[in-house]
Amino acid sequence: MKRYISDFGRFDRENAYYGDDLGAVTIGEITTFRVWAPFCTGVYLNLYTGGTGNNKIETLVMRRQDRGVWSVELMHTCYGYYYTYTLEYEHREYVETIDIYAKGCGVNGDRGFIPDFSELEPKDWNETPRPVCENAVDAVIYECHVRDFSISENSGVPFEKRGRFEGFTVEGTRYEDIKTCLDHLKELGVTHVQLQPVNDYATVDESKPYAGKYNWGYDPKNYMCLEGYYCSDAEEGEKRILEFRELVTALHKAGIGVILDVVFNHTYFTEDSAFHKTVPYYYHRLNRDGVFSNGSGCGNETASDHAMYRKYMIDALKFWATEYKIDGFRFDLMGLHDIDTVNIIRDELDKIYPPLLMYGEGWTGGESPYPTDRLAYKWNSYSFGRVGLFNDNLRDGIKGSTFELRSTGFVSGSDHAIISVKRGIAANSRYRALQGIADDLCWAFTPAQAINYCEAHDNNTLWDKLSISAADRTPEERRKMDKLAAAIVILSQGVPFIQLGQDFLRSKPKILPEGVERNEFNTFDENSYNAPDETNMVRWEEKKKNYDVFLWYRALIALRRSSPLFRLRTCEELDAHLHFHNNTDIIAFELIGTEECYFVVFNHRREERYVNLPHGRFYKRLGEDGKPEYKRFEGGVHVPPISCAVYKRL
Ligand code: CA
Repeated sequence: MKRYISDFGRFDRENAYYGDDLGAVTIGEITTFRVWAPFCTGVYLNLYTGGTGNNKIETLVMRRQDRGVWSVELMHTCYGYYYTYTLEYEHREYVETIDIYAKGCGVNGDRGFIPDFSELEPKDWNETPRPVCENAVDAVIYECHVRDFSISENSGVPFEKRGRFEGFTVEGTRYEDIKTCLDHLKELGVTHVQLQPVNDYATVDESKPYAGKYNWGYDPKNYMCLEGYYCSDAEEGEKRILEFRELVTALHKAGIGVILDVVFNHTYFTEDSAFHKTVPYYYHRLNRDGVFSNGSGCGNETASDHAMYRKYMIDALKFWATEYKIDGFRFDLMGLHDIDTVNIIRDELDKIYPPLLMYGEGWTGGESPYPTDRLAYKWNSYSFGRVGLFNDNLRDGIKGSTFELRSTGFVSGSDHAIISVKRGIAANSRYRALQGIADDLCWAFTPAQAINYCEAHDNNTLWDKLSISAADRTPEERRKMDKLAAAIVILSQGVPFIQLGQDFLRSKPKILPEGVERNEFNTFDENSYNAPDETNMVRWEEKKKNYDVFLWYRALIALRRSSPLFRLRTCEELDAHLHFHNNTDIIAFELIGTEECYFVVFNHRREERYVNLPHGRFYKRLGEDGKPEYKRFEGGVHVPPISCAVYKRL
C-alpha cells in the first residue's frame, strides 16, 4: 500500500474524526458499524457466526460519510456475531482486517466479536466496589503474569484453571500448609496487582491451550480485546470477557485493585497490523526517509502525537476503566508517548475515576524521530502531573547496575550507592536536605511520582542478581541483602513495587539445550519473555522454604500501611518530617510526626554498627525476624550486619 500523507498536522486538521461512535455500536435494536478509513475507495462489512472458519453470514457495503468515516446500519442487534472489514484501495486492491475498535475477538484475534456487556456480568459484579486508594503513595503494587501465578502444580489451583484468569478466583488454595495465589495476595497485604499484558497478543496460538507456550505479552495485536490463552475457551468470544471480569471481581472483593500493563508504544505487526491496513502509514511514526521508525526496539513505534492514535489510546483506556473497572494503568515504554497525550489521558481518566493510578517507563527502547523534549521521558517529569515513573536510580542504587551482571549496590556492600539510596528514600524528589548535588537525579515533583522497585519482569530477579554479583558471599548473607533491599523499597517515600515471588526469593533458572555447559552468564534467565514455565512460573514450594523472607516482606508492608509517615504526600511534608542522621558509612533517618516518631537504620556493612538513637525512649518496631520487641531502648542501639531495624518512640 502506498503512502498518502505528507503533512500530518494538516491531514489531522482536515480529516481527524472526533465522534465517540467508532466500532460496532448498538443503540436499542440497531447496530451501526463505523470505521475511519479515509484513503479507501470502498469498505465492506463481513459478518460471521464464528471467530474462524468458513461461516460468513453476509457482506454489506458501507457508505462513506464525513471525514473518511464509513458506516453501515443494521436494523437488528448483532450481539454474538463476529466481523471483519474488507478495505478497498484504488478500486483494485483488497485487504481484510479486524476492526481496531473491536471490543472482543475470536480465536487468535483475527475477527472482531460483538459482546453484550450487560449480559456478561459475573456474580457480584455490580455489588463489588473498587478498593479505595486515596493517594498513589498508599498503594503497594505487586506485578504478576497471569500464567506464572498459578501454572505450577503446587499452586493449589485445580488443573483446568491453572495459568488462566480463573487462577485468580480460587479461594483457600494451599501448598501443604502455605497459602498460595489469591490467599497469598491477601496474606501479603498488597493493595494492587499489576497484570502483565492481558490484551490480545500475537505470538501464542490460542487454539492450542495445552501446548505450554509462553509469552509475557508485549507483542500486542488487539488493544481492546482480551488474550484468549488465559481463557477456558478461546473459541467463544464471551468467555474471555466473563472470566476476566470474574478475576476483577475476585481481586476487588479481596480489597485489591487491578492495574493493567498497556503496550500502546508499538504494534507487533507493522504492515500486517490492523492499523496499517486501515489507514496506511498513519498510526506509526516514520523516519525522514519514510521508513518506519523503531523507538520501541520492536520494529516500529506508534504515533501518539497523531490525532487519531491519541484518540485511540484515550478511547481504549476509558473502555478498560469503565467496562472492566480497572484501577490503574502501567505504560510500557511511556517515553515514546508525547507529553500532551499523557496529560490528556490523565484528565480523561480523572473524569471516570480520579484515584486511578497512572505510571510508566520514562524511557524508550530505541531512538524516536519525535523531539525528546516533548516525549514522556523521566527527565521531563515536571511536564506531567499525577503520573508515576519507574525509579531506576533507586533500583540500581540498591543492587547495582541492572545491565552489568557483577555490579554491586548498597545492599551488596557498595558505599558509592549510599547517596543513591538516600535520594530514593526521599522519593528522588526536590527534598530540601539533599539539594545541591546531582539535582537532575531529584526528578520527582511529588513522592507519588516515584515508583520504587528493585525487581520487575525485565532483567534478573533480585535473588538471581545477588547470586551473581555477590557470589563470593554466603547464601545467608545474600538472604540478608535481599531483606535489606525489600526494606529500602517498602520504607522509602514514593510507591513501592514488587514482583510476584520476590517475597520468597524467586529465581528464573535458564533452561539450557543439552550439552551446553552452565556458567555465570547462563545460569539465570534475564530476559525470559518467551521462556518455558520451568523458567517463569512461581514455585510455591519456595514460599515454604523461604518463609522467613515472606514474613519479613509482609511485616514491612504492614508497617508502611500502618503509618502515614511512610506515605508522605508532598515535598513540603518530606522537608518537615524526614531527617537523615549524619552517619557517613550507613543510612539512618527519622520520620517525625506530631504523634509518632520512627527511627530507621539500613546497615549494609558486614559488621554490627552502634547507632545513637534520637532523644527519648524507643521500642523496636521491627527486628530482623520482622517482629516487634517490646523492650525499652535509650541512648544507642546495636544494629546487626546487613540488616534494617526500625524503632518507634514510646
Ligand atoms: Ca492472542
